[in-house]
This record gives sequence, C-alpha cells and structure tokens, in this order.
Amino acid sequence: MNPFAYTDELIETVKAWDGTIGAPSARNRKTERMRVFKNNFVEDVLATSRWWLPGVWFGGFIAYGFYLAVVGDMGMAKGLGLYGAGILGWTFIEYALHRWAFHFHVEPDDFDAKMRLFLLHGYHHEFPNDKLRLVAPPMLSWPLAVIILGTYTLIGGLEPALILFGGTTCGYLFYDWTHYGTHHFRPKDPVFKLIRRSHMIHHYKLFQLNMGISTPLWDWILGSWGWSQDAVKEALAEDRKLAKERAAQQALTTDRE
Ligand SMILES: [Zn+2]
Ligand SMILES: [Zn+2]
Repeated sequence: MNPFAYTDELIETVKAWDGTIGAPSARNRKTERMRVFKNNFVEDVLATSRWWLPGVWFGGFIAYGFYLAVVGDMGMAKGLGLYGAGILGWTFIEYALHRWAFHFHVEPDDFDAKMRLFLLHGYHHEFPNDKLRLVAPPMLSWPLAVIILGTYTLIGGLEPALILFGGTTCGYLFYDWTHYGTHHFRPKDPVFKLIRRSHMIHHYKLFQLNMGISTPLWDWILGSWGWSQDAVKEALAEDRKLAKERAAQQALTTDRE
C-alpha cells in the first residue's frame, strides 16, 4: 500500500473546499483536527509534531552554532554578527515562504492543485488550532533544513555555514513557538500582543496581510502590513467565536461517547 495514501476524510474535505485560504469554511469550523495520511508512521511521525519537538531536532544546531560564533576561527565579533545575520535571514525566509509559496491561487475545480495548497497551508487556515499541526513536522522542516544548510555550506564553507545555520534555526524556533503561542495563549505583554493580533488579522480578516509572524519587519518593508483597531477587534472576536463553537462541539462529542 502507498504509505502516503490520503484518508477518505481528507479527500472529501479537499473536494468540498473551494481553495480559498482565509477563515475556516463553514464545513470545518467546528472541527479541531483531521487525519491526513492512512499510514500510522507517516501520520504520527512525519506529518505531525508536538510543539516541543523542533527544540529537540534543532537545539543542538542552535547551541553549536553559537559556540562556534564565540570561539571559532573568525573571532567573536564577526562570529556573532554572522549568527545575527542567520536570525535575520530566517525572518526573511519565513516571510517569503508564507507570502510567495504558501498562498497561491487555485481554481475550485482543480483537485490536485487544491490538494497541494491544502497540505502546504490550507489545512492550517481551516484548522488553525490543531496542536499537532502547528509547528512544522519533519516532512517539511527537515528537507528545508538540509537545503538551507547545504546552500550556506556551498557559499561559505562549513564553519561559517554552521554559525549562520545556528542563527537561522534559532530564528526558526522562535517563529515556530511564537506561532504556536499566537493560537493557544492570550499574551499580556505588548510585543507578543502585537504579534498575536497581527496574525489573527491574517487568519480572520485578510490573508494578504501580515505574512511575517515572528516580526512585522518585512511586512513593513514590502507593503503587506495591515493594522486597524477595528480589524483587530473583528479578528479577535472571530477567533473567540470559533473557539466557543469548537468547545461546544467537543462537549457534544464527549457526551455521546
Ligand atoms: Zn497561524
Ligand atoms: Zn497564511
């Protein structure tokens, strides 16, 4: 059997989905999550991830890159500069992937294109609070890590590449955990409050806005920043409404069991 065979539930959902990425469609509003692959290993190990796992996979790179930046051959000032460039580099990768690779247009009758878009990003917009599909799973993050580290090594050699990659993975982990936090916590401090509210606008008001999650920097520079008190209010109200609907649905399902 094809280990990457999709569940019937996924196929039905993608067929019914019109290919628009935005707030969850009526059909999916009350559902917390959905199984994507039939194969247990692919579904549980490759295609989903607990929030803390990226820390296990990339923590060593983050620490070793920093260590090399401090004691490596190029000297501490240059080393830390390169590490910082790695972090900044990540913020751009995050923005570019989200803006130019994760939000492409598909026709509602093109099933294959819809499936690609759904697996890449549509799923997150339809089921924004699925705890197992919020940080990037190995299927996505490992190949991306190999490409980034490989490119850095080809350009600059191994030691600078490891320093730069340490910074990049540090930025990545901040992004992944911040993104997780925007969907599961109500922060009080002004910085994380701004991050959460701008991301809610992206989900519930206008998906073309606020493509950066860990920082609004590239949205400011590239003209995709959107912020008004009304938009924030509406987006947060929508998020609350959705959470209530799902909780009610869950209570109903638990009652039936
Ligand atoms: Zn999100
Ligand atoms: Zn998005």
